[in-house]
Formats: sequence, structure tokens, C-alpha cells
Amino acid sequence: MRFRSSKVNEFRLWGLALTMGGMLLMIIGLAGVVFDWGKAGRIVAVIFMIIGMISMLVSMGIYFWAGMLSTSAIALDCPECGRRTKMLGKTDRCMFCKTILTVDPQYQHTAENETAAGHAVPLEPNRDHEHKPH
Ligand SMILES: [Zn+2]
Repeated sequence: MRFRSSKVNEFRLWGLALTMGGMLLMIIGLAGVVFDWGKAGRIVAVIFMIIGMISMLVSMGIYFWAGMLSTSAIALDCPECGRRTKMLGKTDRCMFCKTILTVDPQYQHTAENETAAGHAVPLEPNRDHEHKPH
């Protein structure tokens, strides 16, 4: 799997970008209603508004889903920059320095060609939360 940023950040970025795109389409659609563009203009405006609304709803879903995912992510201190980051799955990147963090020893071999962007750091997942009673 190829990813440049940490997964949580990536999902958030895409969710936000799509929300902005959807809002822009809705604004274009609204402009078509406000300014009289004739019959054809109104049809185009309505289409823009519908597309904008759908993409906004979908992207908001993605954004909230990213929020849900980040709560289930493993929190750990990055061994490279020492800051607290969140990790999704067995392999992810640090949110701050983009170092590849992995708990999967198999990943070391496939990560050889990733050294230009940062090297993989094997680590144990933080299991602090398992000691707390639910
Ligand atoms: Zn880091």
C-alpha cells in the first residue's frame, strides 16, 4: 500500500477537499438561481446544486468516518521525533515527520524502496489502554 502522509491525515485532507469542492459547486448553482441565466442556466444551476449537495454529504461522511477511525487508532510516541502520533493498521506514517511506523516485521522488506521518503521504524504497539477497565 502506498501513502505519503499518515492515514488519518490523508482521510481528513480528502474529506475536507471534497467538502470544499461540493460547497463551491453549490455556490455556483446558487449563483445560477440568483442571477437570471435563463431557462438553460437554471437547469444547469439545479444540476450543479444537486451534485454539490451529494458530494458535500459524501465528503462530510468521509470526514466523520476519519474522525471515528482516529479514535480507534493506536496512540504512540514516534521514535523519530518523539511526538505523540496515531497509527491506523499495522503500518502507518507519523503525522509529524512522516516516518513509516510498523508493527509488522514483514513490512521491513517491502519498505526498502521507501528509504528516500523516510525509513521504516519497527516498534511495539502501545497497549496502555488494555489495562483500563471498560
Ligand atoms: Zn515522528
